[in-house]
Parts: sequence; C-alpha cells; structure tokens
Amino acid sequence: MPHHGAKRPPSQAGDAPIPDLHTLLDDLDRTIRADGDWGTPASYIPELARIDPAQFAISVVTADGQLHGAGDVSTRFSVQSITKVFTLAIALGRAGDQLWQRVGREPSGRAFNSIVQLEQEQGRPRNPFINAGAIVTTDEVLCGRAPRDALAEIVQFVRTAAEDDNIHINNAVAASETAHGHRNFALAHFLASYGNLKNPPEMTLGTYFHHCALEMTTAQLAMAGRFLMGAPGGPRLLSTQRIRRLNALMLTCGHYDGSGDFAYRVGIPGKSGVGGGILAIVPGKASIAVWSPGLNLYGNSNKGTQALEIMPKKMNWSIF
Ligand code: GLU
Repeated sequence: MPHHGAKRPPSQAGDAPIPDLHTLLDDLDRTIRADGDWGTPASYIPELARIDPAQFAISVVTADGQLHGAGDVSTRFSVQSITKVFTLAIALGRAGDQLWQRVGREPSGRAFNSIVQLEQEQGRPRNPFINAGAIVTTDEVLCGRAPRDALAEIVQFVRTAAEDDNIHINNAVAASETAHGHRNFALAHFLASYGNLKNPPEMTLGTYFHHCALEMTTAQLAMAGRFLMGAPGGPRLLSTQRIRRLNALMLTCGHYDGSGDFAYRVGIPGKSGVGGGILAIVPGKASIAVWSPGLNLYGNSNKGTQALEIMPKKMNWSIF
C-alpha cells in the first residue's frame, strides 16, 4: 500500500515525540501480527464464520485528506454494524428529533442482540446501535419506499461519503444472516408487538440484513468516516451539531456492553461490527478504520481494539 506524503505532526510539550504516521502504521502492523492470537470470527453468521482470522488492516485519513495504511488494506470485509452509523445519519435526516421517541440514547450495558431490556422498556430500544435500535432506524429509512430504494439510498450515502462507487452489498452474507437470524427476527417482531415498527418486520429486517452486508476495505471505510471528523474543508454531509451527536453516541454506545471499556482504553468515539471492523473518529484530526475478524468477548474486533489502543495514544489523539 503506498503512503501518500505522510507529514510529521508537531510534538506537544511534555509528551513523547510523535512518530511519523507511515512508520507508526508499519510498526503497528508488525506488532499486531507478531502476537499470533487471532481469536475467532463471529460464528452465528455462517458466511462470516469461515473467514481466515489471521488478517489485519488499518487505514487512516487525516484532516488534510491524506490516506495512510498498513496491512490488508485492500481486502473487503463485511462492515456489519458499522453501517448503523450511516443508517442513523439518514434516519435523523428523515425524522429529525422525532426519531428519539422511537429509540433512546443511553448505553445498554447489554449484548448487541439482547431482548431482555426491550421487554423491560416496552419496546423502545436503548440506543440506535444495538440491533433492536438499528432495526428501528432502518424501519425509519424504509418508510414510504421499497426496500430496494431504501438500500440504494444507504449505499449511495456511503459511496458519497467515501467518494467511491465501488462499494457493494454481499448478497451471500445477507442471505446467510437471513437464514440464521432468529434473534433479529425475534427482536423485530417484539418491536412490532409494541407498535414500534412502521413496516412489516420481514421487510424492515430484509433491509437491515442487506445494509449490514455492505463490504468495504479499511481504506474505503476510513474515507467514508471523514464526514464525522468535521474537519474544515472535509465533506459536509451533516450539520456540525449532528456530527457531534453521532460521535457522542459512538463513544457511549458504539461497542455494545464493551463501550465503557473501549472509551477507557482508546479515548475516541468508535463503532464496531461483528465482521471485525471498527470505525473510529478523532474529531477534527482523523478517521481511522481497522479490521481483524477475530472477536473479543463483547463481539468487537480483538486485534482492532488492541491496535486502536496503541495508535491514537502514540499520535497523542484523544478527545480527553
Ligand atoms: N448484522 C449483525 C446482526 O444483526 C450486526 C451485528 C454487529 O455487527 O455487531 O447480528
């Protein structure tokens, strides 16, 4: 992967010198690969279970628009829940603050696909990033259009954000999840029983499974995340206020019941997916995409989290 003119950022008084990004990413790639414990990919979606776990990639787009990377940066992977960020952006554009009547904004402290809380809270999901919440935002995007058109809108949003039309849905992954997605069917019917779905559950879920099956490389994903950086001169797909709010939700809810741990260890907003990808944002400074298919106990990329714990710290990137 070529590195395009990495610039050496200025060091800050009292901190260790900030390394050149190019060297840092290459070193990081070596460090991550040296420790052979790759973990296990998600097993509940058969198409994802058969992916070789011994893969790692990291891509970074800095505020000046330069793309840097190391590892398997041109391998496409299933972005899964990371698309919930884009779907939420579209749903907010559609429903405005009324969306919050249907879904909350609090960390769940539960697994991504938990059903317990949904019953306790009468069918209003805790936040838009757990599965039940993302089924609601997908339902909002679907309103008034055919699933095909809602999907086209989501894919187009991502392509525009990434400035890349070569981004597609993997239909085999969507079919695999449809065939085995009993939990998500249960969640969708539960939502419907509380009157919190506007479309038939099967239609909303079909749209949800397909947008989760979008495939991207880390380079494409880091590019697609630039609008969340809110850097001057970057793409303007949302208002500043919405960008801040999306980042706040990513920080507090982006890693399911591992969100607090991720905020503590990494210190920047991020959204993970069970495909092993994470999109992380350093406001005003960088959009970072990492990928490694092996997951930790919370269903978030093990090596991806590890890389994000090391890299922003070395760059002195933190929101705190
Ligand atoms: N499509 C996945 C599911 O609904 C998304 C979960 C994730 O990426 O965390 O189970």
